[in-house]
Amino acid sequence: MSAPNSNFDPVEVSALKPEAIEAAVDAALAAIAGASDLADLKQVRLDVAGDRSPLALANREIGALPPAAKAEAGKRVGTARKTVADALAARTAELEAERDARVLVTEAVDVTLPTTRRPRGARHPLTTTQEYLADVFVSMGYEIAEGPEIETEWFNFDALNIGPDHPARSMMDTFFVDPPEKGLVLRTHTSPTQIRALMERDLPVYVVHPGRVFRTDELDATHTPVFHQIEGLAVDEGITMAHLKGTLDHLASTLFGAGTQTRWRPSYFPFTEPSAEFDLQCFVCRGRSVSPAAPDYSGPCRTCRSEGWIEWGGCGMVNPRVLVACGVDPERYSGFAFGMGIERTVMFRNNAEDMRDMVEGDVRFSLPFGADV
Ligand SMILES: [Zn+2]
Repeated sequence: MSAPNSNFDPVEVSALKPEAIEAAVDAALAAIAGASDLADLKQVRLDVAGDRSPLALANREIGALPPAAKAEAGKRVGTARKTVADALAARTAELEAERDARVLVTEAVDVTLPTTRRPRGARHPLTTTQEYLADVFVSMGYEIAEGPEIETEWFNFDALNIGPDHPARSMMDTFFVDPPEKGLVLRTHTSPTQIRALMERDLPVYVVHPGRVFRTDELDATHTPVFHQIEGLAVDEGITMAHLKGTLDHLASTLFGAGTQTRWRPSYFPFTEPSAEFDLQCFVCRGRSVSPAAPDYSGPCRTCRSEGWIEWGGCGMVNPRVLVACGVDPERYSGFAFGMGIERTVMFRNNAEDMRDMVEGDVRFSLPFGADV
C-alpha cells in the first residue's frame, strides 16, 4: 500500500488553474451567446456542459487532489459550472421566447379568410326521381313493395307467364347465378315483386315497386347492364283499362305539368293481356313540332325529335294466368300493371343525354339535380 502523495502540487494540474477555468467559462459564455437558435444551443450545451466539456473534465481532476486542495478547487469549478449553467438557462429562455413569438406570426390563423369549403355533394337524380315517382303513387293510396335482386326463375319468369322457351329466358338477356342448375337469376325486371305482393298481401292490392334490374347489355349511351324500373300493380274487383289510363295520365301530369297526356300503342307482354306500350306527350313542344304546316308550329324539338311523343313504358291488364299462379280468382278480380325505366324518365325529364353519366358517379352530374327532392 502506497502512502498518499503529499507532495502533489495543484498548480501542476493545468485544468484546474484559475486562468484555465476562467478561459473555459469565457469560451462557454461566448458560445452560449453565439447560439442563434435552440438547435444550436443544444450542441453548445453538449460542448460546454456535457461530460466531455472542459469544466466537467476539470471537475474530474479534483478527486485526485490532496484533501487540503480539494475544497478550493471544488469551489472554483463549482462556481464556474454554475455560471455556465445559469447562462445556458437564460439563453434557453431567450431563444424559446423568440421561437414562440415567431410561431405566433408564422402560424397565425386569419379567421376572417374564406375557407376552402368541402362540396356538399348531391343526391343522385335516379334516387330523387325514384322517390318522386313513388310519392306520386303513395299519394294515390299505393304501398311501396320491395323484393330481392336475386330471384328464382319461377318468380322472374314462370309465374309471369314467361314459358321455358321464351327468348327472355335465354342466356342472351339474363344473368344466371352460378351454378345455373340452381335456377337463380339477377332479376331482369321488377315484375317478380308483383308476384310476391299478390302472394303475400290480402286483396285488394295497390303497390308500386321501384328497384334495380339487370340485363346482359353492354354499357353505352342508351344501355346499361344495371338499370332501374318502377312498376305498379293494382288488383281489385272491377278494375278496367280506363283506371289504368287515368292512373298513367295522372302520373304524367304530376311529373311533367297539368294536361300532359299519354298515348298507347298495342303491344305484347306475356304477363298482361291486352298489353300496350305507352308514350308521353312531349312536355316541351306538346306536339307542336310535328307538322310545319300547322298554324301553331313550334319549330323543331330536340326532346322528342319532332315526333311529339316520347316512349316511356309498358302496361296492360294482368294476364289471368298470372292471377291464377298467385292464387287469385280471375273470375272475381282483375288488375292492371305498368312499368317504366327510371333512367329514361331522368334522361328526358332532366335533359341528360348519355346513360353512362348516370353510372359513373361523377358528382358534377348529380349536383344540378341534387336539390330536387
Ligand atoms: Zn317535343
